[in-house]
Amino acid sequence: DLPPLAGKVEFQGVSFGYDPARPVLHDIDFTAEPGQSIALVGRTGSGKSSIINLIARFYRPQSGDVKFDGHSTREITGDSLHHQMGIVLQQNFLFTGTIRENIRLGRPSATDEEVRQALVDLDCIDLMESLPSGLDTQVGERGAQLSLGQRQLVCFARAMVAQPRILILDEATSSIDTLTELRIQRSLAKLLAGRTSFVVAHRLSTIRDASLVLVLEQGKIIERGTHDQL
Ligand code: ATP
Ligand code: MG
Repeated sequence: DLPPLAGKVEFQGVSFGYDPARPVLHDIDFTAEPGQSIALVGRTGSGKSSIINLIARFYRPQSGDVKFDGHSTREITGDSLHHQMGIVLQQNFLFTGTIRENIRLGRPSATDEEVRQALVDLDCIDLMESLPSGLDTQVGERGAQLSLGQRQLVCFARAMVAQPRILILDEATSSIDTLTELRIQRSLAKLLAGRTSFVVAHRLSTIRDASLVLVLEQGKIIERGTHDQL
């Protein structure tokens, strides 16, 4: 019921509360043009993940509207939207199985070659292939046998094989060694390229690369602009 999206996303006067009596977002307005990267920054509890939850349509606005290419989320189903959306959440979700199986969850029809290509595109094929059994390495329960950085890259690859028009990423804050950190930065830039993306950003590099930075405080946008303008 939703045609292939160009990827324009609009928030128009959006207010929202998990408990309707206690709003956590107030009158949020912004437009993401197709292909733009939006960074969401602000203290803990300021409403970043709540905005993400509305874009992913896990919740609906209480008032105002969220639109995709002009279609109100009130008129479209979550399924039709999720086919065109990649979501990487704050906690990585890996499942017991191999790296390949975990990546393929992004698109079950993906071939081995496509899985490999996703890792090539993310610039981390060498890292994955250097693991004991390469892409057939078992990740362990919830990914316990991989480093945090490796888990993050598997989640990026999962989003990459799906080739979504819109990408949502609630960036992990976990401390990761500097080398992996650099790799993740590079891979992230490749994952975001050409898609409309929303990143809850903790890395300065992500903020610097964003088309628009939205600064949140207590559920309101208190500043907006590029990194250079702010
Ligand atoms: P963090 O940086 O810690 O992830 P955040 O900016 O993502 O913070 P949100 O998770 O959007 O913040 O939280 C905004 C407000 O909504 C907070 O007051 C929080 O307590 C509340 N909140 C978040 N999730 C829920 C929920 N599932 N049910 C009820 N209230 C929630
Ligand atoms: Mg959050």
